[in-house]
Amino acid sequence: MGNKVRVRYAPSPTGFLHIGGARSALFNYLYAKRNGGDFVFRIEDTDIERNVKGGEESQLNDLMWLGIVPDESPLNPNPKYAPYRQMERLEMYHKYAKWLIDQGYAYECYCSEEELDKSREEQYARGINAPKYDRHCLHLSEEEKEKYKKEGRKPCIRLKLEDHLTISFDDLIRGKVVFNNDDIGDWVIMKSNGIPTYNFAVVIDDHMMEITHVLRGEEHLSNTPKQIQLYKYFGWEVPTFGHMTIIVNENGKKLSKRDNNILQFMSQYRDLGYLPEAIFNFILLLGWTPNEEREIFTLEEAKEIFDPSRMSASPSMFDQRKLNWMNSQYIRKLSDEDYLSFIKPYLAKVIDLEKYSDEQLLFMANMFKSEIQYGAQIVDLLKPLFAYHLEENDEIKEILSLESTPKVLASFEEHLKTIDNLEIETVKQLFKDVGSETGIKGKALYMPIRLMLTGQMHGAELVNIIKLLGKEEAIKRLNK
Ligand code: GLU
Repeated sequence: MGNKVRVRYAPSPTGFLHIGGARSALFNYLYAKRNGGDFVFRIEDTDIERNVKGGEESQLNDLMWLGIVPDESPLNPNPKYAPYRQMERLEMYHKYAKWLIDQGYAYECYCSEEELDKSREEQYARGINAPKYDRHCLHLSEEEKEKYKKEGRKPCIRLKLEDHLTISFDDLIRGKVVFNNDDIGDWVIMKSNGIPTYNFAVVIDDHMMEITHVLRGEEHLSNTPKQIQLYKYFGWEVPTFGHMTIIVNENGKKLSKRDNNILQFMSQYRDLGYLPEAIFNFILLLGWTPNEEREIFTLEEAKEIFDPSRMSASPSMFDQRKLNWMNSQYIRKLSDEDYLSFIKPYLAKVIDLEKYSDEQLLFMANMFKSEIQYGAQIVDLLKPLFAYHLEENDEIKEILSLESTPKVLASFEEHLKTIDNLEIETVKQLFKDVGSETGIKGKALYMPIRLMLTGQMHGAELVNIIKLLGKEEAIKRLNK
């Protein structure tokens, strides 16, 4: 094996890019880049019933959106290692499975589901609470195999584990981890349909692709001794493993893909108007602690400072408020031009973009730039300005029935009619004039005008609203 660091992200194309997957990809990517290595994107599609159409494409697109660009992928293959989809590598797995059988490290198993169930039940009855395969087929004669075949049985292939073998490895995140083969049964490497299982294919791929480091989720920890047994049989160098902790919600519960309280897919965040830089930054801190106080890091900075020894071994909390805060920080930093193109799709949900100049759109969007935490929030903030609807509640009725209200509205309309430019300073002056003419101040002055113009008690700054609506529209609303 060469010395170059090579890592991979190997999703099953069963859906969109999930926050956990994005985190695995991100840490592998940073590890590679920090060490001048390659980041490989490979597809583990052997669980054919679970594959979804477009899964691979969307995973890849979402990664690139985050700025994580693979050095190799099905779209960008290195001929030395291709193909990058497991279902296109079946021949290779067959070859190695046969080799294992020839060496006596693996064997055909003809047991049916019913027979396996029965054996498990018997083991439970004997007080064994983690039943294993009973090795019924370990020493079948050729005649017995023939007999099974004639019955129409199709064999799978099982790995014969070395008995009593202790398997240990130094996990990058957890330190020394120890397993014993006696707790693991002879597991299936090839299903009877000729498709390899994950644990088998992954070892062959990682070896053939010269993968040096494997950073993946904690759920794969118990797979690692199975994989190391294979490396031993093949006489291959074992990569360095690091198992990242689970991600938990605010109640300390493991994030489940079915938990609807938390958005978990990159595409959902993108659609809502989260910036890739913010998501990247947020995920970076999900299980990794920098060696300094600050929390805002760009991808380029992270590449420079990423140090896997600072990855945490305790669960990482998914803190939605922190993500929102982070996103708002990134939104505020956008240039006018970038902000406008980022926000336009959301403005389009409220107004016809064609009817406004970019300058007007920017003015509108800037009214809320420091307020929004994600793009889609601007829709609700902007709507009242365009789809006027006066709510009928007691507080509103009270304000509108104040004795001073008709006087305020009349004076405001008078003054508004006399001015031609609605620049912020002019409008501010207008309020002062109305105030001194009527002798009314504060809430009794501003609220009736706000209500007449927007129908709502709260919202953007009144002077901005007036500038945005324009004189004609404002007068129209005052006369409603
Ligand atoms: N396809 C596996 C998964 O999506 C990858 C596991 C690994 O990285 O070895 O979890």
